Amino acid sequence: MDSVEAFLTANEELEVVNAIMLAEKTTSGEIRVHLEKTCTKPVLERAKEVFYQLNMDKTQLQNGVLLYVATESKHFAILGDKGIHEKVSEHFWQDETAMALQHFSQKQNALGLIKTIEKVGEKLKVYFPYQREDADELSNEISKSL
Ligand code: CA
Ligand code: CA
Repeated sequence: MDSVEAFLTANEELEVVNAIMLAEKTTSGEIRVHLEKTCTKPVLERAKEVFYQLNMDKTQLQNGVLLYVATESKHFAILGDKGIHEKVSEHFWQDETAMALQHFSQKQNALGLIKTIEKVGEKLKVYFPYQREDADELSNEISKSL
């Protein structure tokens, strides 16, 4: 049972942010991680709310991807905007979600996030390659709500 603050150490948090930065060097897509303590509704529904709260629906190519974690209950969802969602199969999101959850269950929270970020980044790169003068449309910092 991890609080939001205990889910990642300060160093791990830097590693996760770095993984996002590296992934975004290969794609115009935008990846964000959001942590909150508990999720009291279906996890995808909650992820969707957070997606809009973070203005992730505002990217030019609709290629934002949110990794949402409820740290105490270890609920996890990956939510891709229309642009990327219509390109990849439902299996991709399901497989990545399962992989992340498996890591979380083994207390490899940072590794679970980093691997997911890498996989999502590889997928984004296929459909949304990095373009010159790419803007960092969404912050790479981890957002949190308690
Ligand atoms: Ca970008
Ligand atoms: Ca970004």
